[in-house]
Amino acid sequence: MPRLLIATNNPGKATEYCALLEGCGWQVVTPRRLGMQLSTVETGDTYEENAKIKAVAGAQASGLVTLGDDSGLEIEALAGALGVASARFMGEETGYPERFQEIERRLQGLPEEKRRARFVCVIAIASPGSTDVRFVRGEVEGIIIEEPRGEGGFGYDPIFRVSQHSATMAEISPQEKNLISHRGRAAALAAQVLRELIHE
Ligand code: IMP
Repeated sequence: MPRLLIATNNPGKATEYCALLEGCGWQVVTPRRLGMQLSTVETGDTYEENAKIKAVAGAQASGLVTLGDDSGLEIEALAGALGVASARFMGEETGYPERFQEIERRLQGLPEEKRRARFVCVIAIASPGSTDVRFVRGEVEGIIIEEPRGEGGFGYDPIFRVSQHSATMAEISPQEKNLISHRGRAAALAAQVLRELIHE
């Protein structure tokens, strides 16, 4: 089976991709599993640029077809922030509980209909020695709730209540999250691209 590198050092993302891409015909490996240090700087202004930076760097360093992803949380009342800077909001070292408090401070008093948000995930797939990069995107809509709830998932999951659900992303099972999440939707499209790549 050909190997596919997932260019991420984020353990939450890596776990999700291993489950999401199971059965797509590729053996999923992480930089850690390869004993590689992948440190890319996200200098792009868009998810696409950052996903491409990660995918191309991974493919060059490993010689493997590489999946790079960039994702973020967009809050309508904050003009689409946190966006591509979601991981760095208030500084990379800042804990999520403090970030939740700051987001709630900015949204304080807003009714539910003004708390709309979405998670976005863009995946770039790069092959070593090729300049052709393929992109897919997935999104999921939700509401930012006042108090975090749930222990599952990672990042902003505890404050993101999925539209049409009473649960946050951190309260549903990993399987359910993978079915409805931005990353799950993007990964389903990426799996199609990967199947095509096997036959090229
Ligand atoms: P990046 O894609 O490495 O730039 O990181 C995106 C950041 O967005 C993560 O570190 C999280 O803070 C947030 N994020 C992306 N996807 C998710 C998710 O599925 N749940 C919660 N937070 C997420």
